[in-house]
Amino acid sequence: MKIKNYMEDVVIHLLYTIVKDREDICKCEKCLSDVAAIALNRLKPHYVVSEKGEVYSKVLNMSIQFEADATTAITEAVEIVKKNPRHHRE
Ligand SMILES: [Zn+2]
Repeated sequence: MKIKNYMEDVVIHLLYTIVKDREDICKCEKCLSDVAAIALNRLKPHYVVSEKGEVYSKVLNMSIQFEADATTAITEAVEIVKKNPRHHRE
C-alpha cells in the first residue's frame, strides 16, 4: 500500500519556512521534531495514495486552506516547544 499522510509533507515544508525567520527559538533536531509532532497531532490527517513521491509538489499547490491550517498549528506548536524545550532532558 502506498498511502501517506500528506499533511506531514505540508507541515515539514512550512516548518522550515516559519522557523527560518525566528531568532528566538531553538532549531535543533529535537525541538523541530517536537514542533512537527505537536502540529501534526492538532491537524486532521489527510491521507493520499502516493506515486513515487510525486505527491509533495501537488500537495503544496493543492490547498491554501491546508497551508493556512498548518501554519496556525505550527505557530502554536512553536510557542509550546519554546516554553518547554525538551532537548536537554533525556
Ligand atoms: Zn532544541
